[in-house]
Amino acid sequence: MSQEQLPQVVLRARKAFQTGRSKTPAYRIQQLKNLQRFITEKQKDITHALKKDLHKSENGTQLYEILGLEGEINLAISKLSQWMAPRPVTKNLLTISDVVYIQPEPLGVVLIIGAWNYPITVTLQPLVGAIAAGNAVVVKPSEVSAHTAKVLELLPLYLDSEMYPVVTGGVPETQELLKQRFDHIFYTGSSVVGKVVMEAAARHLTPVTLELGGKSPCFIDGDCDLRVACRRITWGKFVNCGQTCISPDYILCEPSIQDKVVEEIRKCIKEFYTDDPKTFIDYGRIINQRHFKRVMALIEGSTVAIGGENDESQCYIAPTVLRDVSADSKVMQEEIFGPVLPIIPVKGVNEAIQFIREREKPLALYVFSYSNKVIKQMISETSSGALVANDCLVHYSISDLPFGGVGNSGMGRYHGKYTFDQLSHLRSCLLKKLGMEFVNGMRYPPHTAEKLRWARLLLCRQVNLGRVRHLAQVAAFALLAAFVVQRFWR
Ligand code: NAD
Repeated sequence: MSQEQLPQVVLRARKAFQTGRSKTPAYRIQQLKNLQRFITEKQKDITHALKKDLHKSENGTQLYEILGLEGEINLAISKLSQWMAPRPVTKNLLTISDVVYIQPEPLGVVLIIGAWNYPITVTLQPLVGAIAAGNAVVVKPSEVSAHTAKVLELLPLYLDSEMYPVVTGGVPETQELLKQRFDHIFYTGSSVVGKVVMEAAARHLTPVTLELGGKSPCFIDGDCDLRVACRRITWGKFVNCGQTCISPDYILCEPSIQDKVVEEIRKCIKEFYTDDPKTFIDYGRIINQRHFKRVMALIEGSTVAIGGENDESQCYIAPTVLRDVSADSKVMQEEIFGPVLPIIPVKGVNEAIQFIREREKPLALYVFSYSNKVIKQMISETSSGALVANDCLVHYSISDLPFGGVGNSGMGRYHGKYTFDQLSHLRSCLLKKLGMEFVNGMRYPPHTAEKLRWARLLLCRQVNLGRVRHLAQVAAFALLAAFVVQRFWR
């Protein structure tokens, strides 16, 4: 598809949306089932593509790219009628006899721009919620994971191709798309490009969801099972060769436990990836030579405690740990996004918290400790997209937890119902009858002190209809009407 065709593609999606066919639950469920069919039937192509792009193993692809996505599709199908239904709200006494609710409605045409590190998941997971919410969607996979993008091009063979076009290509194509008018842009990628996306969106006042990255810290308390902590951290850091947006970027710990941490991680690397990770099926590769060079350059000037071996021709970097790293070292100036784990010695939890607070709010924050007090202190004195105690990454797997950043790590949230809500307009509806005008007397001029007293009483009392018995309601309303008629009806 050429760049000149892109405005037409967006226009076609908008026209498809305007037919109204995506409004019915039956249509949305059918499209979600078609998406599931795409994943099932293209399983082999997906696996091969991810092997070529990132050296992911077949089972690794299932575990990290497919299972969660299928879970989200099943959840959306099973909960769709519930998510789409009008949502009753608590009323005040003044609106007690009205019908008041929130009606989720589709936004229109959504642009999804995916990243390359988990190119299936981060592109298709927002799509699940966008379809469930009844939108048309233009899907732009990352060109960096080129083989996977080729497979994603086949998506329109399964979905309504006018409603859900896929645009492949590079930065020029993304930039051309960003010139078009969308009703929402859902972007996953770096904070730098996030700003480009937001600027382009601002020209059309288009709302954005920005799923960005950054440096996610990991504090290991001295009062901790270091063996267990290091197993979980080693897994969270080196999976997908460190190219995970929520991987622990660096460790903060007291100098007294640094040697033990290094040794435990060394044991885990050997256990998980053998003595030779380069030939091991479950150890990934850096996506391309540009990123290989970038990650290798970050190591410069720091002390390598483990790893450091590399092979540019294969974009291979061994699991690497750096020790006694200082805050002003190269590796601490940007998100690493590679298999390099620096350890920064700090005096304890207070200094760790200060270190974290002096930097951008991270996407994830990890704390390992036996002490609830330390964990609670970390929660109350820092801010991040998510906080996980005594583990890494696993919050991603819970559909009921909103996934997203705060500050520099992003805006907006998704997964499960959060994606549906993020890509819906939550429309406020209040349906009043034309009768019973007498109830409104107090709002019309002249605004007397007595009317104000009544207004205060009626507006400030919340009524949860779910909990009020019907009889009590009728009685309360009759009493209210009697008072109001007596006072204001002339
Ligand atoms: P990338 O280079 O693939 O870029 C993502 C998309 O942006 C691509 O589709 C690309 O076409 C487009 N793009 C790139 N440069 C552009 C430009 N100048 N103008 C317009 N569009 C442009 O991905 P990346 O940014 O290298 O991804 C890695 C980053 O993504 C990391 O920071 C990582 O933490 C973050 N990430 C976040 C999440 C999350 O869920 N929060 C998930 C995955 C990755």
